[in-house]
Amino acid sequence: MKILVINCGSSSLKYQLINMQNEELIAKGLAERIGIDGSVVKHETIGKDKVSIEEKMDNHKAAIQIVLNALTDENYGAIKSMDEISAIGHRVVHGGEEFSDSVVITDAVKKALEKCSSLAPLHNPPNLMGIDACEEILPNVPMVGVFDTAFHQTMPKDSFMYALPYELYEKHKIRRYGFHGTSHKYVANKAAALVDQPIEHLKIITCHLGNGASITAVDGGKSVDTSMGFTPLEGLAMGTRCGDMDPAIVTFLMENEGLSSQEVNQLMNKKSGVLGISGVSSDFRDIEEAAEKGNEKARLALDLYYKRVTKYIGAYAAEMGGVDAIVFTAGLGENSATSRKEICKNLEFLGSKIDDEKNNVRGKETIVSTDDSKVKVLLIPTNEELAIARETKALI
Ligand code: ADP
Repeated sequence: MKILVINCGSSSLKYQLINMQNEELIAKGLAERIGIDGSVVKHETIGKDKVSIEEKMDNHKAAIQIVLNALTDENYGAIKSMDEISAIGHRVVHGGEEFSDSVVITDAVKKALEKCSSLAPLHNPPNLMGIDACEEILPNVPMVGVFDTAFHQTMPKDSFMYALPYELYEKHKIRRYGFHGTSHKYVANKAAALVDQPIEHLKIITCHLGNGASITAVDGGKSVDTSMGFTPLEGLAMGTRCGDMDPAIVTFLMENEGLSSQEVNQLMNKKSGVLGISGVSSDFRDIEEAAEKGNEKARLALDLYYKRVTKYIGAYAAEMGGVDAIVFTAGLGENSATSRKEICKNLEFLGSKIDDEKNNVRGKETIVSTDDSKVKVLLIPTNEELAIARETKALI
């Protein structure tokens, strides 16, 4: 059985074709600049040369058609015909309160997704465009929606409510939803397998530290709290997002810098985080390099970033009444030994001790704490596409 996983952005479309017999990747690629001049599909069938297909793509339907042509191409393709695709798994960013699990896509589901679009105006509409496009081109292939928010629907009310007037929750569904759920769920389950204990008995804190970053408290396999909120802006400092701050700064900026609501939004989402503080880059590799050369703002950006992650880990350990394992994943979490060490430096009081030698590793599923560390520290590479493919297979 082969499953196509699709992740649509407003002008991009990432895809992977996975063989579910052995869970191996067969082909992957990215369509960029959809609806803009210079659109291109960068395609790779594993074991063959990469190709760039420059072709006009006015919309997501055109992009998907080119992707399917690439997948079935005689020379650089991966399959003989589209009939080999048994199902399609779509990443959907926001499932609101409607979806606490993945779901087979039907007309009723699509209607419900449209309703959630006001909660994620930048993300859900392109996800829906991808779903519509696949439906038109491959009408007989079953499709499944896998939501970034679903895993966090188990959060108790005292975790997900804001201390705002209750009516705003009733009227606008203003509450914390959390994101990166597919990744948090995947690495939490992998962590339980790695320490060889049933997840039902474990308190795990998963740190997804990529360009976007979030932390989740997973108690007995369920998300009980997470750092992102109503939108992915809350919580940790990120590549370009500010994370937690005094909300009064928003009105202060509007009044004193003459910024519109859109401009403040842009400032908090695109110009802040470690980029905003360092002035160097949103990429941690550049910031680490600048800090090593003595750039003080780059140093500050890293220190502030680490401290906030440490703070959330401490908070979630307190919230769960303990922690058995701390998991690092995504770009920074998987690749930066220094970050893992700095973040865990002040957590020894919890009983977690990093082993410098074991921690000197990247991108490999492994335990990086000392043998006598009461709290295990783990590195688990995330694989959201495989997680989506597994959910899709399970549902069809
Ligand atoms: P996303 O999927 O959110 O775009 P990723 O999980 O791919 O992000 O993470 C990307 C980030 O990971 C980069 O911005 C970079 O800061 C960080 N990263 C990747 N490799 C390294 C590395 N070797 N050292 C430090 N940071 C890294």
